[in-house]
Amino acid sequence: MSVSHTVKLLGLGVVVATLSLEGLLWLYQRLRQWSCGGPLKEVLFFPASMTCVEHLFCPPGDGPCPCPLPHGPETSFTRLLRHLLSARATLDLCLFSFSSQELSRAVLHMHRRRVAVRVVIDKDYLDINGSQVGRLLKAGISVRHDTGSYFMHHKFALVDGRLLLTGSLNWTMTAVQGNRENVLVTEDPAFVKPFLREFEELWTANDPAAPAPTLA
Ligand SMILES: [Zn+2]
Repeated sequence: MSVSHTVKLLGLGVVVATLSLEGLLWLYQRLRQWSCGGPLKEVLFFPASMTCVEHLFCPPGDGPCPCPLPHGPETSFTRLLRHLLSARATLDLCLFSFSSQELSRAVLHMHRRRVAVRVVIDKDYLDINGSQVGRLLKAGISVRHDTGSYFMHHKFALVDGRLLLTGSLNWTMTAVQGNRENVLVTEDPAFVKPFLREFEELWTANDPAAPAPTLA
């Protein structure tokens, strides 16, 4: 066997080993979850105090973060970020307004990790002050807006078509840091499935490439 062939085989072996490790970790987390009371269910209340979230984005071993924010405490915001960052294949977002830079960072992070991200947003709140939609589009993320005369007032996220996050929270820092808000987190298919259908319906209905509906 040639040296290059051996190197290729070794490379393939490393890829397979990495995939299996990730798969095993995923399986372990799911089994642990189910053994601790079934599918994940959690309620997050806001406002959340601001803490450093660097550790959620950076690999461990990068050294201590020098920023002045508190380090370590888990808050409803770090929980929310953790759920979003747990996406491995898809992340579908249906949002009324989106101006939080930290949440945008999480979405862009997932996009860079090859998670398929789709965003539906309200047309009237598309370009609010600090809107993150431009950043998402620039990065190549698919964003669609509604065209109706009423608000697209949903605020929900679907992670891997498995986990639903929904509630009153707009994706703005005012909502995260100031308002009284709630987010329900659930893996219960009885809740997840209707939201999956709702997302697909909105995604299809707001396809800019689709021909305009004809009036009867
Ligand atoms: Zn920090």
